[in-house]
Amino acid sequence: MTTTVLHGGDLVDRHGVEVGVGVDVVVSGGTIREIVPTRPAGDYGTAELVDATGKLVIPGLINNHTHGTAFGPLFPSGHEGLPHEQVLANLDRHLLEGTTTVLCVDGFVTAEALARTDDAHPVTVKLASCNTPACLEAATIADGGGLADENRAFTAQRAVRDGAVALGEIGAGHTLGGGGASYMYIPAEVARRTGVTITPRQSNALKVAVLGRHISASAFDRDAVEEALEAAGLAGKLSVEDTREIVSGIILPAFDIALAGLTEAAEEARVAGVPVLVHNAAASMTQVAGIARTDVRLIAGHSNHSSFELREALAHAERLKELGAVVDVSTLDTFGARRLTTGPELLYAMFEAGLVDTISTDYAGGHHDAILLAIDHATKAGVVTLPDAIAMATENVAAAIPGIAPGRGRIVPGAVADIVVTDPARLDRVGVVMIGGAVVVRDGRRV
Ligand SMILES: [Zn+2]
Repeated sequence: MTTTVLHGGDLVDRHGVEVGVGVDVVVSGGTIREIVPTRPAGDYGTAELVDATGKLVIPGLINNHTHGTAFGPLFPSGHEGLPHEQVLANLDRHLLEGTTTVLCVDGFVTAEALARTDDAHPVTVKLASCNTPACLEAATIADGGGLADENRAFTAQRAVRDGAVALGEIGAGHTLGGGGASYMYIPAEVARRTGVTITPRQSNALKVAVLGRHISASAFDRDAVEEALEAAGLAGKLSVEDTREIVSGIILPAFDIALAGLTEAAEEARVAGVPVLVHNAAASMTQVAGIARTDVRLIAGHSNHSSFELREALAHAERLKELGAVVDVSTLDTFGARRLTTGPELLYAMFEAGLVDTISTDYAGGHHDAILLAIDHATKAGVVTLPDAIAMATENVAAAIPGIAPGRGRIVPGAVADIVVTDPARLDRVGVVMIGGAVVVRDGRRV
């Protein structure tokens, strides 16, 4: 049995050594055997040594909200699946960001396709399902272009029997008029009609002008639509009425069904004994709060969603927490692309208020920021401590979703050796990733 020693690193593990400076993590047979004050390299004989001097050693990240990470339909709208190379590239990206386990919340992926994905890549990919009757109907109306018979037949109940660890993502930016509508469906239809390519933010402004943040036909604001058309360079090319028809036609047909799907899926999850992971946004907050009052375990996904106003999001998350829900935040595209989010204010406010249980990425139109990048910025801003933030991306996730990463999420003797070595000065500069005791990333590259 080969032994590998992560040599001389500084350990972050909230319940173990707070920050243990200069330790050796000894791994063999895929398991962490011991953690000891660093010894001379020669003491380890023939063991493989990985130099971690001056680096931070943290558990592999467990990301509970990803899309495009399994072969099969994309998103809970059943969109046509990505090419397999793109799925593997997405998994590479998660891996190089220090993630060792992802939960794919596309929701219509079959267990068989999930297993093929998991076999094709070192990152552990876990299954979730959103295939309840109302969610399937909403997907079919909103898109459904990637749904084959086998996906439709692979119900949430079957998925749980075949290893799904949660139901989710229930509701989504594509069926509830969120990000998916803004970066995908609305720009596509506007381009088809006018030949003009608009940005996700311009599209979002049109959407809010027509339906408001909470998605309601009564929120229609003619002046705001005119302004948004002008700002998007569409004045004279698209009328206010046409805009109303496009936006309403894309979002409203699936919307009420998708809302009903939230409650339906929560009940199915309760019966199946798995958590339900929901799309928590301004448009779904009433239903999400309703689910929190029942006794299913609720993961309130991306509770820093850009459709919320800051105070609204904080008050809502506080209520959800009081009701026993797990409050998740997503990095979205907060620090990088900023196509839909405008900055970290809400994310930071959630940290500062002590409301955050878990951190994920979500998809952000393929532009998600790395979890460690968000933690790097947030810890430097002083809104969360490093051990707490690391726990939000590791052990808290393992605790919130019992099947997602058994025996993982901690660096303690006996745990599965999913470990990341990174730069304390720039946490997103991941050097080494070990999964199940095997080094799969070295010097920031796949081996
Ligand atoms: Zn979502």
